[in-house]
Amino acid sequence: MARKIGSRYTANQILGRGSAGTVWLGEGPEGPVAVKLLREDLASDQELVGRFVQERTALLGLEHPHIVSVRDLVVDGNDLALVMDLVRGTDLRTRLERERRMAPEAAVAIVADVAEGLAAAHAAGVVHRDVKPENVLLDMQGPLGPGGAHPALLTDFGVAKLIDSPRRTRATKIIGTPDYLAPEIVEGLPPRAAVDIYALATVLYELLAGFTPFGGGHPGAVLRRHVTETVVPLPGIPEELWQLIVQCLAKAPASRLRASELAARLREQLPTLAGMPPLDVDEPDAEPEEDAEAPGPAAAADGPVSPAGGGPERRGAVSLVPGAKPDSNRDTHTSMRVPAPDELAGGARGTARAPRAAGAPRPGSARHRASARRRRVTLGVAAVALVAAVGAGTWAATSGDDSEATPDDRGSSAPASP
Ligand code: ADP
Ligand code: MG
Repeated sequence: MARKIGSRYTANQILGRGSAGTVWLGEGPEGPVAVKLLREDLASDQELVGRFVQERTALLGLEHPHIVSVRDLVVDGNDLALVMDLVRGTDLRTRLERERRMAPEAAVAIVADVAEGLAAAHAAGVVHRDVKPENVLLDMQGPLGPGGAHPALLTDFGVAKLIDSPRRTRATKIIGTPDYLAPEIVEGLPPRAAVDIYALATVLYELLAGFTPFGGGHPGAVLRRHVTETVVPLPGIPEELWQLIVQCLAKAPASRLRASELAARLREQLPTLAGMPPLDVDEPDAEPEEDAEAPGPAAAADGPVSPAGGGPERRGAVSLVPGAKPDSNRDTHTSMRVPAPDELAGGARGTARAPRAAGAPRPGSARHRASARRRRVTLGVAAVALVAAVGAGTWAATSGDDSEATPDDRGSSAPASP
């Protein structure tokens, strides 16, 4: 079942399948490699092949211990392949599904690794745009770090940019889950380096909590939450760590930390996290989404409103389609907007959602059931239409050469004052 990829590589065995293609264990002139063979419909797209070749230099130039290096791009007949460093291990999604929640020390060690990889990429002017646990590989052959964490490497650099042109996004629905999308992307602004920080903070929250801060329910609701909602504190999380997460989930891109700062601040906290067990966070309940949307007496509400009696209904899945049930609060798509400067300045600490009482259903609680992975795919597909609708004219801006980290956004992302 071996096949030739160009003149230099052989693909011997399938390691895994992803949305963009199949990853093979391959052999090259310098030893074993991983070869991602892009799907046929992608590989036969002339425009995409063109961009692929254009991006070659930027992609090939990224070398860092926490980045899965792309060694070669092969265009061979109908094949379009990325030749990458082989990572022997697993991806972070698989690990998270197995463990559900990670001990803070290991979670922070992994995220600090990824932040270092991002810092190198951002310094080289490359924005990843698709940071999520699926794109973090754990090198099981590498040395064990803090909390027993294996070295983490960020993969799929530049792939999001290559394959999600507006046309392709609409035609083949390749965009992933909306859980990690920064608010400015939802608003149709070009993705700069800070979108990766937001996504990585989302990953850190997820590793600690077992669910993402704004995920769950209808993808339109997820998009809206990114723009309008405040992250709910995790019980038992050390305050300094929490502040880092809050800062990196700030609505305003400039309020987020830069990747190198994030890495350093995370590493600083490792000693105090040693030995701490995974956080004791309520399991999201597995009720049907209809129930999840029903108002609960002790459920969390949007805005600084008492959750008890008479307050607005708590957050739920918000329908953005005609004929659907009305929204549970006033921040629907009809009022979706760029956050006002004061909200932006408040970062993620502006209007706290009231915490949920013990035993009450979790907002957006239909997430992370056994079908989570399958649902993600479905949601992602639906999100395409929504993103296309939300971003209408501006979405096109995300596919050009605008996703480089400009000196501007690298230089100006000063942390918000506490
Ligand atoms: P996609 O991003 O197209 O959805 P992935 O990058 O997630 O696809 O790859 C699919 C599978 O291949 C994953 O399960 C991952 O573990 C494996 N894989 C991807 N890249 C490598 C690599 N460099 N080394 C080893 N395995 C890899
Ligand atoms: Mg991937």
